[in-house]
Amino acid sequence: MSITCRHIDQSRFERLGFVVEYAEDEESAVTEMVDAEANHGHCEEMPTDIPYYGSYGAGDNYGPGHVVCDGKEYEDVPATSDGFVVAWNFTSGRPMLESIQRIRRYLKLERKVNKLFKALREKEPKEHRFSPHTQCCIKCGISANDDLVENRPCIK
Ligand SMILES: [Zn+2]
Repeated sequence: MSITCRHIDQSRFERLGFVVEYAEDEESAVTEMVDAEANHGHCEEMPTDIPYYGSYGAGDNYGPGHVVCDGKEYEDVPATSDGFVVAWNFTSGRPMLESIQRIRRYLKLERKVNKLFKALREKEPKEHRFSPHTQCCIKCGISANDDLVENRPCIK
């Protein structure tokens, strides 16, 4: 299972067994975390009071899916790499209304959380981080000795 959450909420997911996927993300306001051992059982204990979204793979008796929480509402929908899985009524030949409503709710929450995370990412300081070894920024590669460095914020 993998999730994207605010950096400040990282410990909440660490308690469930998630680890930060990329070390260089540690200074970021938004963090990606993974739990390779996670099964669908996590969905029962996932936080419902902080914003995040994520996805999980299939297990023995369930398919893959997406989860999202905006800090108030939580939604969990079945989905594969091809898209959402819609439950079908074979008698009427129509999709199940409840299934469609859950997907709509999921999309609404995901839009909200994405907007929030985008704003958080943009607030991050655009400062260079120079390597003590190369004297170059580890994010954009500009040299600390470059004349332009003082007037040019980091592009990453
Ligand atoms: Zn830089």
